[in-house]
Amino acid sequence: MSEPRIWKIHWNRLWPKLARAAIIAAGLFLAAALGARLWIGPLPEASLHPPPSPVVLDHKGRPLRFFLAADDQWRFYVPLKGLDPLLVRAEIAFEDRWFYYHPGVNPFALGRALRQNLGAGRIISGGSTLTMQVARMLEHRPRTYGSKLAEIFRAFQLELHYSKPEILELYFNLAPYGGNIQGVAAASRLYFGKSPDRLGPAEIALLVALPQSPETRRPDLHPQAARVARNRVLARLAARGLISADEYRRAIDTAVPKSRTDLPVIAPHMSEMLKSRVDKNGCVVSTIDLELQLFCEQKLKSHSRKLAVRGIKNAALVLIENKTGAVRALIGSPDFFDVQSQGQVNAALAARSPGSTLKPFLYARALDRGLVSPALLLPDVPTAFGDYEPENYDDTFRGMVSMHDALVNSLNVPAVALEALLKEEGVWSILRDAEFKSIRRDRNYYGLSLVLGGCGVNLLELTKLYASLARGGIWMPYRLVDKESMVPGKKFFSRGSSYIITEILSEVKRPDFPNEFITATNLPLVALKTGTSSGRKDAWSIGYDPEWTLGVWVGNADGAGNPELVGAESAAPLLLEIFDALRKGRRQQWFERPPEVGFRQVCALSGMIAGPNCPETRQEMYIYNVSPTRVCNFHQKFDIDSATGYRLCSFCRQGRKYQTKTFVRWPEEVANWMKAN
Ligand SMILES: [Zn+2]
Ligand SMILES: [Zn+2]
Repeated sequence: MSEPRIWKIHWNRLWPKLARAAIIAAGLFLAAALGARLWIGPLPEASLHPPPSPVVLDHKGRPLRFFLAADDQWRFYVPLKGLDPLLVRAEIAFEDRWFYYHPGVNPFALGRALRQNLGAGRIISGGSTLTMQVARMLEHRPRTYGSKLAEIFRAFQLELHYSKPEILELYFNLAPYGGNIQGVAAASRLYFGKSPDRLGPAEIALLVALPQSPETRRPDLHPQAARVARNRVLARLAARGLISADEYRRAIDTAVPKSRTDLPVIAPHMSEMLKSRVDKNGCVVSTIDLELQLFCEQKLKSHSRKLAVRGIKNAALVLIENKTGAVRALIGSPDFFDVQSQGQVNAALAARSPGSTLKPFLYARALDRGLVSPALLLPDVPTAFGDYEPENYDDTFRGMVSMHDALVNSLNVPAVALEALLKEEGVWSILRDAEFKSIRRDRNYYGLSLVLGGCGVNLLELTKLYASLARGGIWMPYRLVDKESMVPGKKFFSRGSSYIITEILSEVKRPDFPNEFITATNLPLVALKTGTSSGRKDAWSIGYDPEWTLGVWVGNADGAGNPELVGAESAAPLLLEIFDALRKGRRQQWFERPPEVGFRQVCALSGMIAGPNCPETRQEMYIYNVSPTRVCNFHQKFDIDSATGYRLCSFCRQGRKYQTKTFVRWPEEVANWMKAN
């Protein structure tokens, strides 16, 4: 009786053999990779990482606009972890089951393909691994046995340089999907309008089928072939248990997309501005907020339709978040695709005359220099500043007017006089410090008319400057790209002057408030200023609350004037509408009075500190230790001889009958003007 033979594994004898085999295999692999390098050269870097299509995203990473890559391809980079896991498993199951185990080449698959091809007398099967397919995508070679050999060498080389997941990622980013679509991210975006991390089985199967024969299976051109190829993949996935029988039944009945989906075109002008700032993956995360942008686009569009009836064709809008300086919405024209009205021109960046919109900054600066306080009277009479004689928009003069009323009524003479008084510290210096692009020359070049809008500014920089009033006088640059860090702000105005200007600009009873809104109850609380350029070419409205600053420009891109172009009537209503929506669903905060701002009693006429001769006083807001403290010199008391009506001095008063009367003594130039009018 013989003993049953037991197969024993003699590890001590097998180990050296295995080790030797492994060393030989590794040696062959290295030799192949080295041979590849000698024969076909190093890996073509440019083909491995072709230029991506620029994509501009909103601040939460949602796409706003896509641009074709430099070579006119749609190609969006996607990392492997950004793909639906079923897509990855399906690709491997269908194309290369042993992907994770082979060294780039699968000899069994190659052998089978060779047998099939020899039997058929032509090439019907490639036997290519995913790695070899990546190799084929890198270089265009004719379909010959020589090319196949080159691909095999390239595949070894790829396996030597990259991990399996990296090779998979290369495959999904380089594979062709028909027409100018390269990579699975562009394919799922253009065929399904989706990102490739959330796909259904039918979509996944089509994406697996397409790269094998992208031109004959393009669903937009050959839907029938696409469907057949897709369903073959689905059958395999069901057979392998990657999808359930139920999923399979539903998927095979799903229609293939008949055409490419339209790519979104949101914030097209902002996207244009950021296109050149994409990272190596082609992306740039902007500060735009998708919902706010869409909301503003829709509001501006419907507002523009009303303006178009009156011959006003263009408009622009900028919305800045005060706290961060982030531009959350930017619109350069009502309709980007309206060629006739130059819709592609970004009016938010166009230098236009700002009209009266610079005046708040003038008064803020004058408040800070102690030149004015809100009730202080300023002359409003014809005045020559050198050759320059400003007039008011209504061609009238008021004699004297308080600073408050001068700002509310946007009067020109008091503004020019203050600008002259401020010299190097006037509005010119504010615009220069705020980095206004078109303020490049010295003060004399612009002259005093700069303060009335005699210069070019763009809506974006103007809105940015207004945001500094909302921040209590702190100016900071706007931010367009999300990862741009916030730079520390600069103090342009004091908290006190910012607060006083804000209080004045948030009054409703004033000529530049849109008529239709004056009587409206439940108005949004907003500090706003309007402006109309001379010749009625531009209408502006800029407003802010503690959270937001919004700028609206209305006009024609070709600069044509229009009698209807008045800031109050054509720009401000849109601004109020948007502020009304912005405050919905939250409790609107308002600015707190800073401790350095208080109230005092001043002469009701002159606005100076009330003296013993002033008959009436009124309250005004002022800045401690800054606002002027001169006592009223308008009201003066004189003793009048009852018999002659002449003024008496204390000496000749003796023994005569007299009355003490209070007179108003106007400044000389005002008195002269009053006499003449
Ligand atoms: Zn007085
Ligand atoms: Zn006398």
